[in-house]
Amino acid sequence: MTNVLPTYPRSNLTFDYGEGSYLYEANGDKYLDFGSGIAVNSLGYSNKYLNQKLMEQANKLWHVSNVYQIPEQERLASRLCDTCFADYVFFCNSGAESVEAAIKIARRYFYVTEGSKTKNEIITFSGSFHGRTIGALAAGGLEKLEGFNTAVPGFTQIKYNDHEALKNSINENTAAILIEPIQGEGGVSVLPPECLIGLRKLCDENNMLLIFDEVQCGFLRSGKMFAHQWSGVEPDIMTTAKAIANGFPLGACLTSKKVGDVMDHGSHGSTYGGNPLAVAVGNAVLDLMLKEEFIEQLNKISEYLLSGLQSISKKYPDSIVEIRGKGLMLGLKCAKDNKDFVEELRNQRMLSIKAGENVVRLLPPLTISINECDEALGKIAKACEAGK
Ligand SMILES: *Cc1c(COP(=O)(O)O)cnc(C)c1O
Repeated sequence: MTNVLPTYPRSNLTFDYGEGSYLYEANGDKYLDFGSGIAVNSLGYSNKYLNQKLMEQANKLWHVSNVYQIPEQERLASRLCDTCFADYVFFCNSGAESVEAAIKIARRYFYVTEGSKTKNEIITFSGSFHGRTIGALAAGGLEKLEGFNTAVPGFTQIKYNDHEALKNSINENTAAILIEPIQGEGGVSVLPPECLIGLRKLCDENNMLLIFDEVQCGFLRSGKMFAHQWSGVEPDIMTTAKAIANGFPLGACLTSKKVGDVMDHGSHGSTYGGNPLAVAVGNAVLDLMLKEEFIEQLNKISEYLLSGLQSISKKYPDSIVEIRGKGLMLGLKCAKDNKDFVEELRNQRMLSIKAGENVVRLLPPLTISINECDEALGKIAKACEAGK
């Protein structure tokens, strides 16, 4: 038996180290990683620059409390705000915590600005995933709380794409709409720009806040810093984590000035959130990601990969019925069981991840090369061949 609480259905692979786009077992067997720790290791494994920055900080100072000044945290916040709509950043340690922060901030906004004690309802969508804390689970769908004897008021989940249901569910107590611009776990569903525009309009007309969960689709995964930036629409609050520090635990909830101003001293906090070690890595990640060449190369590669995948799906319509996604957040909708497809790829030493709607997610490091894409395309074609 294992002493680790049995909450994960783990495969029996054990990786010893990683380099670039590959993970290695102790015996030297290597796997091409199109999972990136679920969109976390976007700059690949053993990145020399990131390792150097981590070690520099590790030798200076790991942790101090947020009761003291943390200049690198200030710097990361300022740089993050320069990349998007936001004026404030709250640092935490995970995606779920950034969602918790978003829920608190949205509700507090109406408590403070309107003195409301009831405007707290948050509308979310089927197929969404927002994390595993009680609040984040409630946002992901109340049925997920049933097994914990827990009922959480203040969340209404409606069917993705059901415009009528959305309009009908809005009332004077609706505080916010929470949505992933690209659903990750739900099956790599990209919300079209016109939907984001429509949601913004609905929020403005009804005095509600718009929250984007970019924990998975943020940090250039979609080809833009944040996925909603393809639409030109700006949220009031945005949650991020996963790729923000390439695997060092860090999360961030970003807000506009108007909304963030309601959070005064003591209204929220975290012991570790944004500690020196985490933000040193966060800053190092931005050093690499914000280079213009980085984004250009990334967009070239993602076009190349997408066109390769489209040819494969044309050739094997009985295996792959649809290619979804944007940038390097791609999904293969399988004709047969997606679990078998993931397994077949694993047999060929390529890692991918299952998602909802029978989709196989491809989330390679953003630093992937053309050669590695070719290797992946070869393996995917073989998996289609094997599954015929
Ligand atoms: C992974 C994920 C979360 C939860 O992040 P954790 O770090 O596991 O708490 C929340 N929202 C989305 C969209 C995610 O993909």
